[in-house]
Amino acid sequence: MEEILRKEFFYDIASADKILIGIGEEFDTVLSAEGKKEAGCCKQFLKEKSRLDLLPAIEMLCRDKEDTKIIDGLAKLVKLIEDKDYYVVSTSTNSYIDSIKWKENRLVTPCGGSTYKQCPDCCEGSLTKLEDDDWAEIKKIKNHSTITEQLGICKVCGQKLILNNIYAKKYDESSYLKDWQQYMTWLQRTINRKLMILELGVGLQYPSVIRWPFEKVAFYNQKASFYRVNEKLYQLTPELHDKGKTIAQNSIDWLASL
Ligand SMILES: [Zn+2]
Repeated sequence: MEEILRKEFFYDIASADKILIGIGEEFDTVLSAEGKKEAGCCKQFLKEKSRLDLLPAIEMLCRDKEDTKIIDGLAKLVKLIEDKDYYVVSTSTNSYIDSIKWKENRLVTPCGGSTYKQCPDCCEGSLTKLEDDDWAEIKKIKNHSTITEQLGICKVCGQKLILNNIYAKKYDESSYLKDWQQYMTWLQRTINRKLMILELGVGLQYPSVIRWPFEKVAFYNQKASFYRVNEKLYQLTPELHDKGKTIAQNSIDWLASL
């Protein structure tokens, strides 16, 4: 990041009343050639078996040590904003984002990931956290490309549980709705406040969750500053040219450089 932009960025953090952070698809990407190939094969296989809900977990296993960089980068960010009133919205299905030490009730992950499992028919009470045994089962799928896995069964209807995320045929959205309501309330309180918006690696896979609404919030808030960090989709809409700053870099590399 250029020195002037860097200074501006730290100044904006220091002077902001509220900070809104968006985390997107760049955090799902498998980077190494070998991991990418492996994830691609698994994706094809999961698609054929109609089990794409397992993809976030498989991708996590394929990224392996690459995720350390994500965890370290986000930990750095948390440190920078620890005294601030912030909220984080993540459309990434990388569940390491859940394990970062954000302030309590300051994160919403509307696309889910591999933190929870659910009944395929969303029976009430079926939503539970994944355990170590589940990960051992998921590793078997990655290594042998066969689905004999058992993530437990639904206590209500007896069906095999699946992962709770946007790829599920019937996604149990009760896992994040409470957080979403909290986010909406938080967002209302940003009106007329000095708001800093930081969008990290958000592409166009789910533009109605982060990309478009964040642009709109930035446009209508006269005191807003807006930062978009993205390797490929870094362009700003013309409406934001006076208050928006763009950093054409992979957001994970950028976090590492902070
Ligand atoms: Zn059920």
